[in-house]
Amino acid sequence: MTNTTSPIVSWLLSDNHWFNAEPRAVHLLPIPSWLQGVAKPYAAASHDPKAPLAVEFLTAELWMIFAPVVFYWIYSTWLYILSHLKLTMFEVHRIQTDQPARKPNKVTVQKVLFTVFLQHVVQSITALVLVVLTRPDNVVEWRMESPLVAIGKFFIATVLLDTYQYWMHRWMHVNRALYKRFHSVHHELTVPFAYGALYNHPVEGFLMDTVGGAIPSLILNMHPWTSAIFYSISTLKTVDDHCGYAWAWSPARLFNSNGAEYHDIHHWGKGVMYNFSQPYYTFWDHIMGTEYESAMERLRIKREAELGTTADKKEDNEDAGRAVRGDKSVKATESNTIKRVGSSGKAALRQRKVDHSSDDGGDSATTSTSRASPVRSSQRLSEKAKSK
Ligand SMILES: [Zn+2]
Ligand SMILES: [Zn+2]
Repeated sequence: MTNTTSPIVSWLLSDNHWFNAEPRAVHLLPIPSWLQGVAKPYAAASHDPKAPLAVEFLTAELWMIFAPVVFYWIYSTWLYILSHLKLTMFEVHRIQTDQPARKPNKVTVQKVLFTVFLQHVVQSITALVLVVLTRPDNVVEWRMESPLVAIGKFFIATVLLDTYQYWMHRWMHVNRALYKRFHSVHHELTVPFAYGALYNHPVEGFLMDTVGGAIPSLILNMHPWTSAIFYSISTLKTVDDHCGYAWAWSPARLFNSNGAEYHDIHHWGKGVMYNFSQPYYTFWDHIMGTEYESAMERLRIKREAELGTTADKKEDNEDAGRAVRGDKSVKATESNTIKRVGSSGKAALRQRKVDHSSDDGGDSATTSTSRASPVRSSQRLSEKAKSK
């Protein structure tokens, strides 16, 4: 019987094509010579022929710890340069075109840079400690996952990270004390920019980003190379979400609307109680009704319904007013009019109750019974929805 399995599928399913039966170092990324020098005492502590694998493992660990930091500063600096060059080919992708109308950032660029630097120090030390604590006794036995396993773990990790960050983020908005003490620091950026992606209170930076990143890696027992890729992409995505440009080519747009435009809405004013999801997907906002666009659509429908009942009521009141003034033509229908006023009032009340019960916690501000125009109501409610 002939084997019909595609060689590519066999390769993907293979768990040891990167590490052969005869161990040898296979580098995902080149190991610089200076690093080999650093690793030598560690790798060659014994005359184990598998020592090159240990070098490889150490390299992966170092990439896992430092690659996100390096990529953060490289990508932020590139975006910073772009924002100053103002080249037309990039400026067409700029969002925040309402910038003059927004309140300016309450923090200086210098303070942002220093705070992010501190965040990276804490993050790197935490990662180093975790590496030491969780490193297997015999690193040579911890082989690199097959690409299929690595890709699977990567996607599960993105869902775990999003879930953790959605609820942490939402909690930090709903709990006024937490918002005031910690999360309001991030919302000093009303006009976000790339360097500010990790501008947080140190406690929030540790809880939200450092712990949030470590959880999927620990739960899924990810190989350092898989973690390095996961952390690097997550970091680049977070920087991109704050950069003020919505790139047409952004991979985020292939999957859903969670990109710079999406998160930028969350930074309006002192923080809008919508669009908590970050950094990858929008499904939690969608499930919990905290997606800005859909919340605004619900609000619009409600306003239209209210406006309809209000118009009915106004018309009926005018009829009633004419009747009171002694208008004979109306007098004949006076009793009917009064009944109609009563019924439309009840209908409006019912509508409000239905709307109220369909609203969730993050959207409670939309239960106002204002009778102003939908646009003005929407604006006012949007203002109310902003955190204080
Ligand atoms: Zn943000
Ligand atoms: Zn927030």
